[in-house]
Amino acid sequence: MQLENYIRDIQGFPKEGILFKDITPLLIDPKARKECLEILVSSLKDKKIDKVIGVESRGFFFGMLIAQELNVGFVPVRKPNKLPYDTISASYELEYGSDTLEIHTDAIRKGDRVLIHDDVLATGGTAKAVCELVEQLGGEIVQFNFLMELSFLNGRDKIMGYDIFAAIKY
Ligand code: 5GP
Repeated sequence: MQLENYIRDIQGFPKEGILFKDITPLLIDPKARKECLEILVSSLKDKKIDKVIGVESRGFFFGMLIAQELNVGFVPVRKPNKLPYDTISASYELEYGSDTLEIHTDAIRKGDRVLIHDDVLATGGTAKAVCELVEQLGGEIVQFNFLMELSFLNGRDKIMGYDIFAAIKY
């Protein structure tokens, strides 16, 4: 099965000039979704993961499935003012302006072995911010794990030195 066949290109979303990779055809198909999950999890055998982080919002879908498959905790990283308990935050630059992500302070314990999952690695700004949150709480990042890597945007450079896995590469 070619997972690429379940990713739909949307021209001009969310704004003109952007080619958006839509994962909803993958989410809606149980067979493709299962195969994708198996690929993501196969890269994690014997890695002794304690927690899986899913990044709001498309990182929640497979992030939770991976956590369930590994039988470990799931931790949401969210946009500002969404998490109800004590949080720490990290900001990152966008093309225009900046964005912030938050995590609960009790979500990661010192020494926890953490997998960071998101749907897409683009410029790497999001991944870098999540990295800062995890390390600030004393977690050890075992792998960055994506459905897709848009290689031409060089997101890897922002998280150099870490183990990076992507099920699909463009
Ligand atoms: P980055 O911070 O690496 O530039 O962007 C990654 C974040 O933007 C991810 O959280 C991802 O959900 C979102 N993103 C950027 N481009 C795309 C895209 O083409 N398709 C999808 N599904 N998400 C994208």
